[in-house]
Amino acid sequence: MTDVPGASKSTTGTLYVVATPIGNLDDMSARALKVLGSVALIAAEDTRHTVRLLQHFGIDTPLAACHDHNERDEGGRFLARLQAGDDVALVSDAGTPLISDPGYHLVRQVRAAGIAVVPVPGPCALIAALSAAGLPSDRFIFEGFLPAKAVGRRARLEQVKEEPRTLIFYEAPHRILECLEDMEAVFGAQRPALLAREITKTFETLKGLPLAELRAFVAGDGNQQRGECVVLVAGWSAPEDDQAISDEALRVLDLLLAEMPLKRAAALAAQITGVRKNLLYQAALERQQAH
Ligand code: SAM
Repeated sequence: MTDVPGASKSTTGTLYVVATPIGNLDDMSARALKVLGSVALIAAEDTRHTVRLLQHFGIDTPLAACHDHNERDEGGRFLARLQAGDDVALVSDAGTPLISDPGYHLVRQVRAAGIAVVPVPGPCALIAALSAAGLPSDRFIFEGFLPAKAVGRRARLEQVKEEPRTLIFYEAPHRILECLEDMEAVFGAQRPALLAREITKTFETLKGLPLAELRAFVAGDGNQQRGECVVLVAGWSAPEDDQAISDEALRVLDLLLAEMPLKRAAALAAQITGVRKNLLYQAALERQQAH
């Protein structure tokens, strides 16, 4: 039984991982309310924050802190309650726990002890942004927060420069402009991107533009540098024409063309350089015709 705490009478309790709103309180699900109102204890990232949420919904379940600094040490305390048969809910300040939020160590510990962990799904900023972005959503990667300092941030961006799946990042408002500047420098001015700000809140803004234009839009309006934000960037797509084949790949192709038939040279050059075979094949044809 996963719906109502206490309904399954095994001897141990259940840990419910409960998503809460990322702005608009109407996004609180009926099931989340039911679970938070029935468990013995709520493990919260910030009890002062969660108490306000609970008060809004008239829930008076006891709270205990479960944040980055105590999660490893205090996990035993929650585990003991679960082992004693109490149901516990885990919440973070906003959205889905564990997603750039505390909870990972606790969930691991509880699962390792053989105790049931049940998700109560709901708001999550990255999924909300992706669902409305109009960027490919069949495959994506979530990179969480980039390093705060420019050197680390650029290094991380370099690592995913040729990632073909849609890229999703969380960013702090005071770093959004420098983050977009670095993305433009690494991914290129024309790469499609989208900034999703203040999702579900009064000043919600979803702006989709090529990176250079998005950077200029944010630079030109201080309001765009406020509030919570998610940045989505289209994945890398392979160059469509032979203009984009590097000089080094063409040098390899020419060497091979001098030694073997065109088709074989293109195939081997593709293996050596990583450039797509049909692009090299086209380039080889053009080079032969030019001679
Ligand atoms: N657990 C949360 C979730 O499920 O999305 C994320 C928590 S993380 C500490 C906070 C970051 O999530 C913010 O800095 C921002 O990047 C993103 N975020 C949270 N709420 C948002 C909102 N309403 N609009 C845009 N981004 C949001």
